[in-house]
Amino acid sequence: MKLAIRHADVDRLDTWTRYRSGMCDSCVANCCTMPVEVKLPDLVRLQLVDAFEAEHETPKQIAKRLSKAGLIDHFNFKNSIFTLARRASGDCQFLDAKTRRCTVYELRPNTCRLHPQISPRPGHCPYAAQ
Ligand code: SF4
Repeated sequence: MKLAIRHADVDRLDTWTRYRSGMCDSCVANCCTMPVEVKLPDLVRLQLVDAFEAEHETPKQIAKRLSKAGLIDHFNFKNSIFTLARRASGDCQFLDAKTRRCTVYELRPNTCRLHPQISPRPGHCPYAAQ
């Protein structure tokens, strides 16, 4: 099946395509270039934080360590939401630059699992063909 829009602009929601099953197989993973907001359990599942640290350190202390290590770009103190760091290219740190596939798929954060149901334009994604 040919998709109408082949070159989405991630920042322009009107260029996004309605999600259909199987689309991801031919996409360049534009969704993995957007900031990913995660919670502490996501970081534990990703093995960026161990269970002991999660239990004994404050989110602020954890954020400080992760920020220093270049693993997060931002921490929202009020809601305890961490934003994963991205590479200079804008890619998520876990995206394989060549294959455009997630290298931590089984452990990926909830935000990624819920996309595109929960996204800036629910049910749509910034699809672009490889
Ligand atoms: S964790 Fe995986 S699915 Fe989520 S943005 Fe990064 S590469 Fe994409």
